[in-house]
Amino acid sequence: MSPYDLIVKKRNGGELTKEELAYFLYGYLKGEIPDYQVSAFLMAVYFRGMTEEEMINLTEIMYRSGVQINLDRINRICVDKHSTGGVGDKVSIPLAPLVASAGVPVPMISGRGLGHTGGTLDKLESIPNFRTNLSTEEFINQLERINVVMIGQTDEIAPLDRKLYALRDVTGTVECLPLIVSSILSKKLAEGAHAFVFDVKVGSGAITGSLQEAKLLAKYLVQVCHRFNRRAVSFISNMDQPLGNAIGNALEIEESIELLKGGGPADLKELTLEIGSYMLVLGGVEKELSVAKTKLQQLIDSGKGLEKFRELIEAQGGDVRVIDNPKKYLPQAKYTKEILANNSGFIAKIDTRTLGLSAVNLGAGRKYLDSPIDHSVGIRVFKKVADKVDKGEPIALVYYNIEKDIDTICTIIKEAFSIEDTPVEKQQLIIDILT
Ligand code: URA
Repeated sequence: MSPYDLIVKKRNGGELTKEELAYFLYGYLKGEIPDYQVSAFLMAVYFRGMTEEEMINLTEIMYRSGVQINLDRINRICVDKHSTGGVGDKVSIPLAPLVASAGVPVPMISGRGLGHTGGTLDKLESIPNFRTNLSTEEFINQLERINVVMIGQTDEIAPLDRKLYALRDVTGTVECLPLIVSSILSKKLAEGAHAFVFDVKVGSGAITGSLQEAKLLAKYLVQVCHRFNRRAVSFISNMDQPLGNAIGNALEIEESIELLKGGGPADLKELTLEIGSYMLVLGGVEKELSVAKTKLQQLIDSGKGLEKFRELIEAQGGDVRVIDNPKKYLPQAKYTKEILANNSGFIAKIDTRTLGLSAVNLGAGRKYLDSPIDHSVGIRVFKKVADKVDKGEPIALVYYNIEKDIDTICTIIKEAFSIEDTPVEKQQLIIDILT
């Protein structure tokens, strides 16, 4: 077996055995196979796909690449959520503390930005000093103590996903079903949660563009979980416009705090409460979804969800002052520029992928493996699909630090909004739920 032979086998459409996959990927993990060969392998998988058996084997190899956490000592059903990623999708941030405040332990391992989509870890790290690299022991202890913990893949937990995820981000190999399934499930299975809610995004701002592909991904996530004796539910939700209004790391933390304070955009709140209700039912603290939803609303109204977020930030070393004064304690961009509507009408379409890529170009995401992130930059969207707009009215606000190319980026952002004369229907947020 040589790495070259395996790349060629996959390039030619062959099916790799579990041993071959393990040889190649563990070789990469040990530093014996270089990034450039793994990049070629990922591109071959992107074009050739994988059989179901290969995908399950890949998931297992990735999941067993580090420690597999046992959460038996928590003595309750631990439930986690994961999104396939979208523009402005910050649901995990208010959701995890909110669900934890309802009594369901939430052990969450998330990812960084991927392609044009943002990542929970990058967002959390915009909170000064917030640590996302806890040890396994710290992870379990914190879950036991405060019912919630949010980290990334580490050298101990799902280390192979950590390396492959970063490589996919910069090699155009994000949008590939078997790579998505194995990436998500490797960290979710390793973290030891007993049940999951997945949010498969579909639309221009997602990594799955077609509904057919999203349905297949949603089905695979549930099925592979069952193979590993975990319960799972998959949402399919709309990503043909940004979720909420904020795109960009610190801006999205601010919006998450607004939600926990009882405000925030309606679509973000709706999705958070719907997913949260399933988590409460899976976690066995409620039987009825409607009762669970009311409970979550009460936890927002009473401020308990916000208090849990404060506890989480404190436990992970972050600056808790962001809760009471986000504008002062979260990183702020030096400049802003308004994007004004060229004509009056109704927002017919938002090219959400373009907004995500523009945020990356402003510095909110990575172009290379080691690109630093600018947590302060991003875009605030004022208009969503079907909204009425007047000529000259602001449709978005761009937050930036580097003036070079800003006019070009703003033009691209403006062109991402299509305005038509006739009214347009609102988009459906939750498209399907697979239980
Ligand atoms: N989230 C992940 O963790 N991995 C993917 O590949 C996509 C979304």
